[in-house]
Amino acid sequence: MSIKTDLIIYNLSEIVSLPQVVRGFAKEKDLGIIYDGFIAIKDGKIFYVGERKDLYKFDASLKIDAENSIAIPGLIDPHTHLIYAGAREDEYEMILSGAEYNEILSRGGGITRTMRETSKTSLDMLVKETVKRIYEFVKSGVTTIEIKTGYGIDIDSELKLVRALEIVRRDVEIDVIPTLLAHVIPPGFERKEFIDRFVSTLIPEAVKKDFLFIDVFCDSGAFNVDESRKILSNGVSAGLKARIHADELAYIKCSDLGLEIGSVSIDHLNNTPRKVLEKIAKSDIVAILSPTTSIYIAKKMPDVYTLLRNNGIIALTTDHSPALMNLDMIETMNLASIYFSLPPANIVAATTVNAAYSLRAEKIGSIKEGFQADLVILNVKSYRYIGYLRKRDLIKYVIKRGKILYRSSNQKL
Ligand SMILES: [Zn+2]
Repeated sequence: MSIKTDLIIYNLSEIVSLPQVVRGFAKEKDLGIIYDGFIAIKDGKIFYVGERKDLYKFDASLKIDAENSIAIPGLIDPHTHLIYAGAREDEYEMILSGAEYNEILSRGGGITRTMRETSKTSLDMLVKETVKRIYEFVKSGVTTIEIKTGYGIDIDSELKLVRALEIVRRDVEIDVIPTLLAHVIPPGFERKEFIDRFVSTLIPEAVKKDFLFIDVFCDSGAFNVDESRKILSNGVSAGLKARIHADELAYIKCSDLGLEIGSVSIDHLNNTPRKVLEKIAKSDIVAILSPTTSIYIAKKMPDVYTLLRNNGIIALTTDHSPALMNLDMIETMNLASIYFSLPPANIVAATTVNAAYSLRAEKIGSIKEGFQADLVILNVKSYRYIGYLRKRDLIKYVIKRGKILYRSSNQKL
């Protein structure tokens, strides 16, 4: 008698299981590869992962022949600004032709422009647009996504975004992890007044709506270190965990604040001095890095190899925002290969298990029995092709909790 399950994926040349957080340069053993294997899924969870020789013991209502492809955990984007209205394609052109981000911001463009457009947009429309963007991400293998608030022009429109995120989180099939972000001081506010109201109104509301994280854009042109400390420490006292945008545009000691406050992640790190990077690498803080932001906004790469040589934990993000609408996690993996020289084993860890750790998300990020059946089947025979073989249609299947959310058009069931 065979064991009945819901879905079996077999003929997998590699199952890259990533059993635990990967520090420093990933070694092949960190990947936990099962060669020529299969995965049995039941009730949305991974029921069994094994080698072909044991396949006969299992049966399923649906079986997929992976035809010598690989399975990796569902991809996780741990840093996005997905909830907003409007576009800034003209500013993107200006950046390409040499304009600095802070120059655009000081002329009323950048974040403040998106704040104005977002605040004029209805709750329903914001939800609809965000859901649409999420399903674009799914096509690139994403099964869990973190989304930050931060484009409200005043406290009321920030409250609208908190509410919208609550609805989005309920309405989509993938996991959405909400973060309350202090982005920039909206035009017309005194700095202290905005921060006080952020702390007294938005933090309690986010806690009430089950937000997990608080984040601050700590940088030149955004919040300074003392302001960021006040926002984050109040969030932490209210039960949220801290994340921080640090050193993207300039080094004003925001990464030091991340260390001081025990942030779960420190994101960007484009201008961070080596000594601080070494401290981050030796801690349990995840360094979340964005190739696209590094190329187009920071115009400077983070020192990825100092983080890796010192055993740091690295995750990757699209950092999707209206500054640059990157909805493609595979592209992000490719860009990390080109611009960060990140080895393929690290790329896979940085978009799965390490990203899950940065979100304190349990039961995702690894292919393990009892974990959520979140998987991506990639049309390559080894993980070593990641970043190396670039083509459309790299993804065969995207599976969330055992359900096929996406399959490329040439895949037959
Ligand atoms: Zn960001």
